[in-house]
Amino acid sequence: MRVSFLGLGAIGAPIASHLAGPHQLTVWNRTRAKAEAFAAAHPAKAAATPREAATGAEVLLTCLPTSAEVEQVLFGPDGAATALAQGTLVIDSTSGDPASSRRIAARLATQGVAFVDAPVSGGVSLAEKGELTVMLGGDAAAVERARPVVALYGKKKVVHIGPVGAGHAVKGVNNALLAANILSASEGITALVKAGVAPRVAVETINASSGASFVTQTLVPDRVLTGAYPRSFRLALLDKDCGIALDLVREMGISGPVLAAVKGRMAELRALLGEEEDYMAPFRQAERDSGVKIRG
Ligand code: NDP
Repeated sequence: MRVSFLGLGAIGAPIASHLAGPHQLTVWNRTRAKAEAFAAAHPAKAAATPREAATGAEVLLTCLPTSAEVEQVLFGPDGAATALAQGTLVIDSTSGDPASSRRIAARLATQGVAFVDAPVSGGVSLAEKGELTVMLGGDAAAVERARPVVALYGKKKVVHIGPVGAGHAVKGVNNALLAANILSASEGITALVKAGVAPRVAVETINASSGASFVTQTLVPDRVLTGAYPRSFRLALLDKDCGIALDLVREMGISGPVLAAVKGRMAELRALLGEEEDYMAPFRQAERDSGVKIRG
């Protein structure tokens, strides 16, 4: 199939790499050099604009920071939507927000284009292996068309959650839980280290106990105890996800004091650390604030 991919960021590029080869792939990225570098490294063509990328595409994927950028690249100047033929499928792998997705889907439907929200989970290293979880929101027919495409990088799990926006809702809540784990683990482990417990002993004991999580089992050993702190996912994007979850909680009339506190702290850290810091930065911030090192 002729497939186009818009947004070759930290997670977009490895996702797109699984589509090059099985499909005739065209890529577009705001910073053109990234699209050209991708096309040089994979069997793919680089397009100059979203509109050019969409011309002739049967399936178009987007992977952008938020739904606002998705709307911009679809409907803005030189936007993809003007070139999308009737019968095209748009798969949005952005962690977007459900209300925007419903609006985008309704607007595309007026030109006979189907839309599926298809956010992913697993991070950059699993994206490179094609082993992501993909959460699909859309009607059954569109989801069935999306499945063989997302299966190329969704080898862990592909699940049809519900109508348009449902994938984004689950992804938002998932990431709010991730943020809660990061924040609570950074506070608790820092306190244990300051109290004199060796960092590795603290982490290994928690990991053999009921407080263990993906954060303590994988992220803390790989990134915090080693001091490696690679940048793979921007804290600013995790803050955005916490906002999506909190909006859902409020829309449902649930008071949600814990998720509100998580969102509040993430926003504070985002303001303090800026747009480019990695999502594990709360641990480094806790180290700075407490004067102890969580290494070992
Ligand atoms: P990055 O910040 O690494 O990349 C963002 C991409 O969007 C880049 O290609 C960037 O282009 C492009 N972009 C930014 N602003 C605009 C704009 N105004 N118009 C057009 N293009 C724009 O983000 P990620 O790849 O990490 O994340 C993408 C999505 O995937 C987000 O919704 C995120 O929450 C989600 N996600 C990320 C994961 C991760 O581990 N990184 C894991 C799971 C989901 P340019 O190169 O020009 O800056």
